Amino acid sequence: MEYLIVGGSIAAASALTAIRKNTPQAEVRVVADEPVPFYYRPLIPYLLDGSRTADEILFAEHPPTVLGAELLHDQCIGVESKQHLVRLRSGRELRYGKLLLAAGGAPVMLLDDLPGAKSEGVFALRSLDDAVKIRQYLLHCKTVAIIGGGLVGIKAAEALFRAGLSVTVIEQQPHILALRADSFAADAIAERLRSKGMTLLTEEDSEEIVTSAGKVNTLRLASGRTVTADMVILAVGVKPNIDFLKNAGLEIEHGIVVNQQMQSSVPDIYAAGDLIQFIDQADGKTVVSGLWSNAVHSGRVAGCCMSGGRAVLPPLLSVMNSTEIAGLPLLSAGVLDDPQGRYTVFAEACGNSYRKLLFDQNRLVGMIFLGQTERAGVYANLIRCQIPLEKSRREQLVREVMGAIKRV
Ligand SMILES: Cc1cc2nc3c(=O)[nH]c(=O)nc-3n(C[C@H](O)[C@H](O)[C@H](O)COP(=O)(O)OP(=O)(O)OC[C@H]3O[C@@H](n4cnc5c(N)ncnc54)[C@H](O)[C@@H]3O)c2cc1C
Repeated sequence: MEYLIVGGSIAAASALTAIRKNTPQAEVRVVADEPVPFYYRPLIPYLLDGSRTADEILFAEHPPTVLGAELLHDQCIGVESKQHLVRLRSGRELRYGKLLLAAGGAPVMLLDDLPGAKSEGVFALRSLDDAVKIRQYLLHCKTVAIIGGGLVGIKAAEALFRAGLSVTVIEQQPHILALRADSFAADAIAERLRSKGMTLLTEEDSEEIVTSAGKVNTLRLASGRTVTADMVILAVGVKPNIDFLKNAGLEIEHGIVVNQQMQSSVPDIYAAGDLIQFIDQADGKTVVSGLWSNAVHSGRVAGCCMSGGRAVLPPLLSVMNSTEIAGLPLLSAGVLDDPQGRYTVFAEACGNSYRKLLFDQNRLVGMIFLGQTERAGVYANLIRCQIPLEKSRREQLVREVMGAIKRV
């Protein structure tokens, strides 16, 4: 049986490890289009200010080599599922017994929506290569505008600020980190970022990137305001990398539709990572999300099931994040806000700490821990697994969480 994996990141690596466990001798090929695949993508912002090098963020063990797979630096441009064959950019064609699609996501580049988005000095931050290019370019820059105040935008803002640039973040929503925090937590973080010297503009839309001598010079906003910028970073979201699958016959809605074993609608084709859609355990909605842990879980299940093992996709959340921003640890999971008054909400703030719990009757469906995140993982697991809690356990949990905030 020949296994073929398209993609060179965490979903691919997790699948490959699982395949090797079940079938130590099978032939496995990995097609990856990045010059250097298999690195910790969430760490690429640290390349921008030189606080980490590219070597330091590579997977400690290079999975394809260590696990005896053949790594092809190429790009898959089409899948002929009836013939069990993929076409590569180089002109090569590869046959497969079982195929895993683990091509992740690509940044939204606003090419059709934002005049000037193709100019020199406009970047996205998705790959190691992007980070290296930004690092080279910033040596000639004093100012940067970051369009998008989500996690990637804010991580980029912090790194570029540390690198000595004057930073302006432009966010459409009323607060930054719209998918990772509620307005209270986000405003507390924003205040700290502003106090360091960054400019954060909310409820602002970008209208045009203006150039001078072919290079980015100014960002014009819909409000009429202008932001001086030698460089623009687009951080407005990610879309599943599925364009090359148009003729593969796969069922695709928001992302690739898979079952609990990560099988697509086409025989012998599996999918895992940022390009699949799944049901968010917190609110039951079908979503595509970009989370490292979801790519690990789905990759592992896909690899296991492709190679004859038995596994089931564990419950997943579309919001499940543990990070540090502006020097504050932040862990958020599940439902973060309740504009319609559907949930029972407990929230408390003290000094730099903030905690919030949201219950849907007897189930914990969401949480935000900012500043102090001890035991947060335990509570996040209750959300992920949707464990029903008796009234006394619920009350104890609220006391545990809210009573534990200390002034810092
Ligand atoms: C700056 C940044 C910060 C992040 N921070 C966090 C965080 O704090 N927490 C968190 O949970 N997640 C975070 N993420 C998201 C996380 O990195 C992704 O969810 C995760 O990398 C998805 O893994 P994946 O294997 O599905 O796909 P990807 O990591 O997107 O990898 C897909 C790979 O496939 C390759 N590929 C694509 N198309 C083809 C093709 N046709 N042929 C061959 N190869 C192809 C791509 O080049 C890429 O190498 C962050 C992402 C970024 C960019």
